[in-house]
Amino acid sequence: MYSPIEYLKGVSAVRGDLLRKELQIFCYRDLLEHYPLRHVDKTKVDEIRSLTSSTEYAQVAGKLVSKQMMGEKSSKRLVAHLQDQTGIIELVWFQGINWADKLLQMGQTYLAFGKIGFFMGKPQMAHAELEVFVSQPKTKQYLEPIYPSTEKLKAKGLNGKAFAALTQEVIRSISEKDLPENLPQELLQQYKLMRRFDAIVQIHLPASEQHYRQAVRRLKFEELFFAQFTIQSLRINRHKTIRGWKFEKLGDLFNRFYEHELPFQLTNAQKNVLREIRKDTGSGHQMNRLLQGDVGSGKTMVALLSMLMAADNGFQSVLMAPTEILAQQHYNTISEQLKNLPVNVQLLTGSTTTKARRPILEGCENGTVQLLIGTHAIIEDKVIFKNLGFAVVDEQHKFGVAQRARLWKKNQIPPHILVMTATPIPRTLALTVYGDLDYSVIDELPPGRQPITTVHRYENARPQVMDFIKEQLALGRQAYIIYPLIEESSKVDYENLMKGFEEVKSFFPEPKYWISMVHGKQTAEQKESNMKRFASADTQILVGTTVIEVGVNVPNASVMVIESAEKFGLSQLHQLRGRVGRGAEKSYCVLLTGSKLSNDGRERLKIMTATNDGFKIAEKDLELRGPGEMEGTRQSGAFEFKLANIVEDKVMLEVARESVIAILENDPDLSLPENQPLKQYFQSRKGKTPWSKIS
Ligand code: ADP
Ligand code: MG
Repeated sequence: MYSPIEYLKGVSAVRGDLLRKELQIFCYRDLLEHYPLRHVDKTKVDEIRSLTSSTEYAQVAGKLVSKQMMGEKSSKRLVAHLQDQTGIIELVWFQGINWADKLLQMGQTYLAFGKIGFFMGKPQMAHAELEVFVSQPKTKQYLEPIYPSTEKLKAKGLNGKAFAALTQEVIRSISEKDLPENLPQELLQQYKLMRRFDAIVQIHLPASEQHYRQAVRRLKFEELFFAQFTIQSLRINRHKTIRGWKFEKLGDLFNRFYEHELPFQLTNAQKNVLREIRKDTGSGHQMNRLLQGDVGSGKTMVALLSMLMAADNGFQSVLMAPTEILAQQHYNTISEQLKNLPVNVQLLTGSTTTKARRPILEGCENGTVQLLIGTHAIIEDKVIFKNLGFAVVDEQHKFGVAQRARLWKKNQIPPHILVMTATPIPRTLALTVYGDLDYSVIDELPPGRQPITTVHRYENARPQVMDFIKEQLALGRQAYIIYPLIEESSKVDYENLMKGFEEVKSFFPEPKYWISMVHGKQTAEQKESNMKRFASADTQILVGTTVIEVGVNVPNASVMVIESAEKFGLSQLHQLRGRVGRGAEKSYCVLLTGSKLSNDGRERLKIMTATNDGFKIAEKDLELRGPGEMEGTRQSGAFEFKLANIVEDKVMLEVARESVIAILENDPDLSLPENQPLKQYFQSRKGKTPWSKIS
């Protein structure tokens, strides 16, 4: 199973090299895990006439009636036509031209398989899989596997079909002992899962469609099961083995704040989360909790109360924000809220001067700084704590997993960790990415919030939109106008921003109106001072890029205009919209777009105008983009499933998760005989799963 791939008949040194580089196939087992994309029924040949623009893939058999090299250099291509009794189809190659040219002989009949496109009403196949047609098939294997391949591999003759020969070669040489069962017998029976060996054989060379489906089902289950196994064993082990600081009491600071300083009533959801945190921190084990709550749901107050709890028990806390602006803002609000209490709060960011830094670092080390707010500057090695007991990570998705892990190393006993995220993620996704954390939700907004009205307008309505802003400004409110920044380094994006800024200025001339601008090319101080001018209402309009996206709080702002809204993802749009609707006034969000919209773009705008509910939006986002592209998950690598898809296989994910938890709770060390297959397999794969990297 672990023999190097070159040992296989048909794999030369050159092909072996390419297989490693292109598809990470190192050994036989890797090849067996290179699953087919689909199977073609070799007995079925489509008539060319029957192809329509809704045909996805087709297999046609026809005589080569023309072949021609066209274009030059990068647009060089080979164009050929196949004719059957019903029509003609065009085949075209931009790559692998020489290979196709050699194979294609005028007058010969070919079997071509590929994706169908239509060009000027005529069917076309680009980069068809091609072979000489030898009468009707011999049907020894009627479902023939087609594998994903790459252009480089194809150029060396390893196209989607050629892989089949290699895979068959491996399968011929193995038996069940090479691929031992890795799931407990009981699970196989309970969920009617095919055995592992059978499933791997059948996914490549299915005896029937039914067998294929069963094989896929079994292998998907296996993927989800072991993914959950990794993260759940982390979680359960942590509960068992990692000691945590015990917060014995609610003390003076917490009580005084709660009774005299709290500016509002907590929502029930906030109270529930506090209760969960209190229970965790009182248990003697380390807390690792994910707190999800929509924008504006009041996560910061939960964090503050928890940090007071820590201070009452003699511990220091940190609150880590992803940007300077946000750290500064947290610092301002929190020091204001704590102004009547004897709590030492400090701010530490990348732009804290060396002079100001020294006493802060000293205070952290000797324990006088009770609450340190900052950016990732607070987890640098130079920052040493006397007794860090509680750490809050705000807006999780801007922090890498590695950064989170550094918090652990700040003490011998790790601090309790509360991870807060404002980009709601659907439950399935949370279970996958943050499955090693315990999970809390604030599913309720503070009372009295007016829903934000969201509309979509085309760019030609910009003058009317600007007039609307004028009306709002006349009422004493403020407005944001946001431009997309696709890439931090993109010149075009900045040019658009600057053009936009000039245009906004022409609508809102000084000195009647004042505008500030914030973008990523400014220094931290520039950003800061521009934000401040807007926050203190010295300017009425803030023109900016998404640097303002996360967390910024200016309750007087009531209009959010998003330029080129079609270019933003759903979660980003929702985040941006969340910058308004924070005060008592009615707020508006205007999504401006060009007239040409993709289907997905249109769908996103539809959802945004239909709902304010972040969790609904997140579900939809997951559906539209797939898990790998979701905000906050890209860096996690937690989605490298070969077969499973957490959107489509949601139910299976839950089942796998529950099975894993049941097994681990019953037999945490996997010492029971029935769990031996599982244990052996898990140990053999350790370090190969991306989940092992999650802190
Ligand atoms: P987020 O969850 O997006 O971080 P914040 O913590 O910034 O939300 O809270 C948004 C606003 O709501 C803040 O101005 C905060 O003071 C206020 N707030 C928080 N909790 C409540 C509550 N229970 N009642 C009224 N206002 C609240
Ligand atoms: Mg927040």
